Amino acid sequence: MPSPIRFLPRVDPSSAELNQSQFDAFSRQIPLLYFILVVNSAAVAFTHRAVAPAWLAIYMPLALCAAAVVRVIVWVGRRRVALDAAQIVARLRASIAALVVLGVSFTAWGLALYPYGDAYAQSHVAFYMSITVIGCIFCLMQMRTAALLLTAIVIVPFATFFMTTGNPVFIAISINVLLVSGAMISILLTYSRDFSNLVASQRALLNKQAEMQTLSDENSRLANIDSLTLLPNRRRFFSDIDNVLSQCIRENRGFAVGVLDLDGFKQLNDLYGHGFGDGILERTAHRLAALSNSQVSFARLGGDEFGVIVNGFESRDHLLEIGGVVCDVLKKPHVRPGSTTRLTGSLGFAIFPDAGETPEQLFERADYALYFAKENRRGAPVVFSTEHETEIRQVSAVVQALRDADLAREMTLVYQPIVDVAANRIVSFEALARWSSPSLGDVAPSVFIGIAERSELIHRITEVLLRQALAFARYCPPDIGISFNLSTRDLAADDALSAIIALTRSSGVEPGRIEFEVTETALINDFDQAAKALESLKALGTRISLDDFGTGFSSLSCVHRLPVDKLKIDRSFIAEITSRSPGRDIVKSINDLCTNLGLDCVMEGVETQAQLDVLKGLGCTLMQGYYFSKPVSAADVATVLARFDGTREAVWV
Ligand code: C2E
Ligand code: MG
Ligand code: MG
Repeated sequence: MPSPIRFLPRVDPSSAELNQSQFDAFSRQIPLLYFILVVNSAAVAFTHRAVAPAWLAIYMPLALCAAAVVRVIVWVGRRRVALDAAQIVARLRASIAALVVLGVSFTAWGLALYPYGDAYAQSHVAFYMSITVIGCIFCLMQMRTAALLLTAIVIVPFATFFMTTGNPVFIAISINVLLVSGAMISILLTYSRDFSNLVASQRALLNKQAEMQTLSDENSRLANIDSLTLLPNRRRFFSDIDNVLSQCIRENRGFAVGVLDLDGFKQLNDLYGHGFGDGILERTAHRLAALSNSQVSFARLGGDEFGVIVNGFESRDHLLEIGGVVCDVLKKPHVRPGSTTRLTGSLGFAIFPDAGETPEQLFERADYALYFAKENRRGAPVVFSTEHETEIRQVSAVVQALRDADLAREMTLVYQPIVDVAANRIVSFEALARWSSPSLGDVAPSVFIGIAERSELIHRITEVLLRQALAFARYCPPDIGISFNLSTRDLAADDALSAIIALTRSSGVEPGRIEFEVTETALINDFDQAAKALESLKALGTRISLDDFGTGFSSLSCVHRLPVDKLKIDRSFIAEITSRSPGRDIVKSINDLCTNLGLDCVMEGVETQAQLDVLKGLGCTLMQGYYFSKPVSAADVATVLARFDGTREAVWV
């Protein structure tokens, strides 16, 4: 059975918005309602002041109006106080109760006044009661309960009273008022339903909006997270740098941007597969996340590259200390059932504002410091310094000069013999690049090759030099080979490789005389691609040699998987060969292994007779170095060849 209480405002979340809206409308309209009541009552009291007793015509309306004014004051005074749902319900219920009490009181007062005065005064009472109740119902449009109660409290006694007066005018008025009230109630019910629907649809709209907000919050969270490691991603990293940068500018202090890269990750990934690589990245991220705090945060930028923000350090040394902790954590072995992997991470830092003033500059400098760490201090942190700044300037000067260079004129080759000491003859010449720049002067190949390798420039250099080397080979005795150094990037780019193959094919030089030297780093970056490229060179009939062997990471098992004909043992091993160093054993075992595998083995950088003797003692035969000849120009090659004709003991230059 529906309880009458159901019409009263309820404390439940579903009606909270409705209550709130009713409360707001009520707050605006209640002063108006009481104003109508008080003014109309005062007018009736005035017309009855002389005919009714004072208690009825003066004191009672005064008391009732005072009560109404107090209600308004209390209501208006509390209007600005923030209320919760339960308080709003309580306030609405109290207001309805007050309305009922005042409605009953004013009705009783009006009816009590009726017997006094003439027909005009009596008509005034009827008019007062009917018009006031209609005005009040109007003010309570949004408060259905209050409006219905008020109608019942005032109209029922009013109509009953005036119907029973027997006066046709008052009976007509009663009927009029009943009809108008009925119409008002009907309009009110429709309006109140529309009002509830409006509030409900507003609520639905707000719910939808909240849902959308939650969804968009989740989307932006996902858009800022790296899905593999759950660390912040590259986008988030740069927006964090932006925020920290603005904060540091405001507070006039520094912070550091770091770039961290795992050393040798790529080889592991290639060797053991992506699942294994992902595992390493996840564990690395886990270790980094454990180090993050309010000052240090990490992000994954992609591949095996991580970003670091250090927001708060005392000095450069302190920053290096923090970087050291990070690198140490990465050095811990990755232990898995059946295997243990050791990795290091190199870290480059750039400090704001010394190293740069924009996120891009800072990132670029940190990346440069990382590059420096990789080259010189693997597994350790490096902070970008003024020396790096100078280097960058030098590098960009070289890049600019290389771009502007007339390569065919400025680049030349010099040739260094490779000697078979057992047969006492020169077997080949290695072509080595020389660059004489009009703006920079002579630039060493160790400088410009590395720089050119960072862009497409290397391909143009390779092409220009290969043409020269092949032209040189055509004029050399046919039993003399020519070694040409290829860059990592030449092997990685299909176009560059095709150009090399086409030039070699069309040169007219017997392919067996041509040897391409590649360094181990060429293999490290992309073993599969390098192997494919070497296969296609090998298919031409040319020979392949692995340069600077022993300085990189390639193991002999790697070599075995490549179409290599020759290893060139790096000169750092030869330099210490005369002392009883482990280098001597390494050289001997590599040389023996080459013999077993049917590979040639060249000793690089032989500078002294003593080194030659030791190497001979170890069974080495192929050698290259200043002891035999420094690299010479093409014009001097004939002299070098003539100096040693193979019929007598060599008299080396
Ligand atoms: P590399 O291919 O290992 O060449 C041997 C380097 O050792 C040459 O330096 C040579 O002059 C030097 N060398 C030879 N014998 C001795 C010695 O007894 N003692 C000492 N201390 N050094 C000796 P260079 O000409 O400065 O070339 C340096 C590197 O630059 C080369 O190392 C090679 O990796 C690269 N390079 C040179 N020319 C080219 C080129 O045309 N293309 C490419 N891609 N790289 C080149
Ligand atoms: Mg070489
Ligand atoms: Mg070498």
